[in-house]
Amino acid sequence: MTGGAERGILWIISAPSGAGKTSLARALVAATPQLRTSVSYTTRPPRPGEVEGTDYHFVPMEVFTAMAERGEFLESARVHGNGYGTSEPWVKSQLFAGTDCLLEIDWQGARQVRERLPGQAVSIFILPPSVAALAERLRGRGQDSETVIARRLAAAREELLHYDEFDYLVVNDHFQDALADLQSIVHAEHLRRGYQEYAQHQRLKNLLGMNG
Ligand code: GDP
Ligand code: ADP
Ligand code: 5GP
Repeated sequence: MTGGAERGILWIISAPSGAGKTSLARALVAATPQLRTSVSYTTRPPRPGEVEGTDYHFVPMEVFTAMAERGEFLESARVHGNGYGTSEPWVKSQLFAGTDCLLEIDWQGARQVRERLPGQAVSIFILPPSVAALAERLRGRGQDSETVIARRLAAAREELLHYDEFDYLVVNDHFQDALADLQSIVHAEHLRRGYQEYAQHQRLKNLLGMNG
């Protein structure tokens, strides 16, 4: 993390729908103290079991549009015909408090965040092991209609085309291996000099103040 008083690391995870982004992000956050997921605003209806304020803030299009007009979104995008957006005030408050913040967003959103906060975000793209596995997972999740699944599969290629805009690529074949990869990335990013200059501020001061 360079400059500014924002001390947490901003993470972006993107993937074609069904690649396992939500499952992996959830497991990563559960295993990582000081890492929280940003709860997006969306105009799509909740899936069975999804909880308002936990999975998403579900809002009508008018509310979403008004928020966008007031500039409250760090990024926003239309995905599968629905509006999705990230609350900038929430994200900033987390980062200022020293908490890492994870954004589960699509490639359009990732691009906007990189433009708005250059050099600040670390981005990870999740690859499904194969097209067949992706289709199987979308069906297996059992939460979308066949029409929606077909639309998501068609959109998967569009999303995959943007893999090269990301810092890291993780294949989600065996879940535990993919999770371990994510944890390695998080660990390594916290050892970067830029972050350590903040985390080890006092130690560095003591060491450098040593005379002889
Ligand atoms: P959604 O956001 O509502 O789709 O919820 P998730 O994608 O987070 O789904 C969580 C589910 O994923 C759990 O019920 C797990 O059983 C399942 N899951 C996580 N890892 C694996 C895995 O490696 N293999 C399989 N078959 N299922 C998994
Ligand atoms: P996304 O958030 O990218 O749309 P999900 O996390 O909802 O994806 O995962 C889609 C489906 O695939 C879910 O039913 C999930 O349980 C399953 N899944 C995730 N990772 C794996 C994996 N490594 N192996 C098999 N199934 C998986
Ligand atoms: P889903 O409806 O399956 O939860 O999400 C569909 C897509 O919308 C995914 O590709 C996801 O990354 C994206 N998405 C979810 N929240 C946001 C957000 O706040 N901003 C953007 N740009 N995309 C989002």
